[in-house]
Amino acid sequence: MSYTSRLTKAIIDLDALVKNYQYIASLSSNSNTIAVIKADAYGHNASKVAQALSTEVNILAVAFIDEALALRADGINTKVLVLEGPLKETDIELALDNNFALMLHSDYQLGWLKSISPEFSGDIWLKVDTGMNRLGFQVEQVDHVMSQLSAVQISNLVLCSHYATADQIDCIRPSKQLEKLKALVAKYGCKFSMANSAGILNWPESHGHYNRLGLALYGASPIGKSPKTRALIPAMTLQANIIAIHTVKIGESVGYGNNWQAQRDTMLATVAIGYADGYPRNAKSGTPVYINGALAPLVGRVSMDMITVDITDLIHTKIGDTVELWGKNLNIDIVAQNSDTINYELLTRVSKRVPKTFVN
Ligand SMILES: *Cc1c(COP(=O)(O)O)cnc(C)c1O
Repeated sequence: MSYTSRLTKAIIDLDALVKNYQYIASLSSNSNTIAVIKADAYGHNASKVAQALSTEVNILAVAFIDEALALRADGINTKVLVLEGPLKETDIELALDNNFALMLHSDYQLGWLKSISPEFSGDIWLKVDTGMNRLGFQVEQVDHVMSQLSAVQISNLVLCSHYATADQIDCIRPSKQLEKLKALVAKYGCKFSMANSAGILNWPESHGHYNRLGLALYGASPIGKSPKTRALIPAMTLQANIIAIHTVKIGESVGYGNNWQAQRDTMLATVAIGYADGYPRNAKSGTPVYINGALAPLVGRVSMDMITVDITDLIHTKIGDTVELWGKNLNIDIVAQNSDTINYELLTRVSKRVPKTFVN
């Protein structure tokens, strides 16, 4: 985008990404820390993130082949792990041609691999369902899968599983899941990968040959407030500007509906961001925004292109001032909690019409 009249933007701090990566990687220095950049790097721009990390990272991960091909089209040559594996037969050849590692989770994928490319020479990751019950071979199937795979040439075989509750430190499930994976690892003598961001932070015993770092790379915490996440730097700052200021009398409401009434004569700022930009429509009155060093509460409903904020107590605020919706000055978790969602969803749903600016 070359001309921009509206100042709404997401500022992406690439240096913060590098620092977050280095910090998290230092927590498991014997593991290869994979940077998970699916969903356009959680809304941060996958190719830019890949470039910024190119000297740190030797494996990237995305959800499906299209995301991996988009990286190649942008000149990213790092190995890419495709977390959902082939979803079409032709994905197998694409993987071979492009140095993609494939995660296999179902029999149909195994069938394609054997029939299309028994001479497949890439990396294969086997996803085992150790209790999340979403994706992966059952533990009892692994014997059979291994015997099928013995007919295929593989340069590197990794056993992998995914935590359902790694964020819950007092939960028994993560240990049960890890136990199941480790039993298979001992049996087959393979490399393994269990930990996502929360696994890396909460479950050191889950650190494998490979860990899969997503959310924390972007400076958001998968485990809430913790001393371990204090060093993370939010990589995205979402901001917009005040385009109008007006006053309403006590008892009046604002915007669509009437779910908020002024408890006093109120100075309102209208800010140029709405749910079409990815600011959550669910955000309740009272959700803070950050203006000129102070917090002010959202009031009324979030519109498609605008929100309204009570700036009665911020007397120097004027039209044109910058408002931070989340970022370095306002933790995204607070916005997520006020919107009945999680930081992951907020980051990934910032929409295309919000331009990104990259800083180092
Ligand atoms: C998205 C994803 C990750 C990264 O998870 P975070 O919680 O963001 O660290 C790891 N592994 C798999 C299989 C994933 O799909």
